[in-house]
Amino acid sequence: MFEWIVVGGGIQGCTIAAFLLKNNKVLPDNLCIIDPHEKPLTNWTRNTGLIDMKFLRSPFVHHLDADPFSLISFTKKKNLKDNEFYGPYKRPSLKIFNEHSHHLFQETALEKSWQQGFVSDIDKEKDHWRVHTLDGKSLAGRNIVLALNVNDQLFIPEWADSLHEESNQVFHIFDKTACIEELKPPIAVVGGGITSAHLTIKLAAMYPGGVTLIKRHPFRVFDFDSDPGWLGPNKQTAFRQISDYERRRDVITRARNKGTLTSELFQKLKKHENEQKIKVVDGEVTSATKRDGEEITLILAQQEVNVNSIVFATGFKPGRPGGGWLDKVIEKLDLSCAWCGYPIVNPKLEWCPHLYVIGSLAELEIGPIARNISGARQAAERIVQSL
Ligand SMILES: Cc1cc2nc3c(=O)[nH]c(=O)nc-3n(C[C@H](O)[C@H](O)[C@H](O)COP(=O)(O)OP(=O)(O)OC[C@H]3O[C@@H](n4cnc5c(N)ncnc54)[C@H](O)[C@@H]3O)c2cc1C
Repeated sequence: MFEWIVVGGGIQGCTIAAFLLKNNKVLPDNLCIIDPHEKPLTNWTRNTGLIDMKFLRSPFVHHLDADPFSLISFTKKKNLKDNEFYGPYKRPSLKIFNEHSHHLFQETALEKSWQQGFVSDIDKEKDHWRVHTLDGKSLAGRNIVLALNVNDQLFIPEWADSLHEESNQVFHIFDKTACIEELKPPIAVVGGGITSAHLTIKLAAMYPGGVTLIKRHPFRVFDFDSDPGWLGPNKQTAFRQISDYERRRDVITRARNKGTLTSELFQKLKKHENEQKIKVVDGEVTSATKRDGEEITLILAQQEVNVNSIVFATGFKPGRPGGGWLDKVIEKLDLSCAWCGYPIVNPKLEWCPHLYVIGSLAELEIGPIARNISGARQAAERIVQSL
């Protein structure tokens, strides 16, 4: 029997696992991290690598280790230069962030706790949980942390549904089968946020002169994806006093700077546009038609754009992560959910005794930062401190 089972081994799952290990709340042999991938952080590594993200959006104190200054001391020990950190908030390079995470996994022997599998059901037994996987495994654990994410729920606009089904030249950038090496220019990148900015810059280097960025709003420049006040009591105290979860959801939606990008990416895109390395079109695509052969015509209010490929950087569907199997568990265990479908949990992040949540599932308690690395740290701290 495991003391702790963490379902999902992404940023969120690995953060709670590392916090439990580093705070001596569990030994690697009594911890199980269960995830369908071969190794930790697979979605993170793939998604950030695919768009060639050079620096994180978050500052140097946001990483997976319990000590906030661990990333800085790791960098100093390696004698690396200051150029591993960008700007006034010292945003770490993706390279150093990933190396530091890997170092943490080695230091805590976290990979000893890794089990490959996709959880498809959870049962309550006398004084423990039983977790079932799609491939027929069954694991017993005293505590469970659900660390699922919306990353598997890709959003593609309705007008592209049939194009996407028919063609390997029309896909969401985070689709597991996405292959940007075989795109056929001209290419449209659809989306107005930070992912579309990174992607457009990367594709412009691969397909010079062949990339058009189509966005439905002017560039929105923000350093962070929510006001930094959300990191501490400044905004969190009032949020926690809201007893109506519908209002909490409303506050979260309004607090997120969706579809935004950092100033240096904005400058880079502008430079690319001025040098005619990319085209930028403002407007919402309302429909698309495929002509003979490969050409697709995208119809906007003021103009039409002809392309051979479309890559969506349009984010994720907002619904609660987990899908059908979690719906059944909610019903079976009679777990509380707000009208938006997300868990109502106690301040220890327990959905019911010994069943914890972290990441997007914890956002009605943690607030707008829940899905980010800072949210993972705060949630992990809350769970560990409650033990
Ligand atoms: C391109 C990009 C850049 C970002 N940059 C930043 C940044 O700079 N700073 C920041 O704070 N945030 C950033 N984020 C946001 C956020 O930190 C990341 O999305 C992060 O990867 C989310 O971690 P996660 O653990 O919730 O999700 P994931 O990394 O997707 O991990 C969830 C894991 O759970 C697994 N899983 C799902 N269902 C099951 C199941 N039933 N059984 C077992 N396992 C399951 C999945 O397969 C997956 O491996 C960024 C996001 C993206 C997409």
